Amino acid sequence: MAATERKIPAPPASPETKEFWDEAARGTLMIKRCRACTQAHYYPRAFCPFCGSDATEWQAAGGSGVVYSYSVMRRAEIPYAIAYVTLDEGVTMMTNIVDCDLDQIRVGQRVRLVFKPTEGGPPVPAFTPA
Ligand SMILES: [Zn+2]
Repeated sequence: MAATERKIPAPPASPETKEFWDEAARGTLMIKRCRACTQAHYYPRAFCPFCGSDATEWQAAGGSGVVYSYSVMRRAEIPYAIAYVTLDEGVTMMTNIVDCDLDQIRVGQRVRLVFKPTEGGPPVPAFTPA
């Protein structure tokens, strides 16, 4: 197993993202929604990227989405897929598609959230075909 699972470095921590990683450790993907303009965004920021308001609040994502675009890194020691996934909440996030045949990934495909362990840090959100 160790030879086929790509090692993922621990994500950088900051006060702005502490709650995100605390929730990730509990298996929940958090996004932020702006109370001023009602738009959701990712990655989570203290100030809304659409209207600049600081009235942003955390919201748990349902964990389902579709592949918006993807790229398979075949030259890596252990090939892996980087993708943009659009969540059902409407935000698009850069992530990895995991636990599947990389040749079977398709744009528009339904995917669901899984968390992958990192080296010494909280788990990171990834997606697998639904
Ligand atoms: Zn806003």
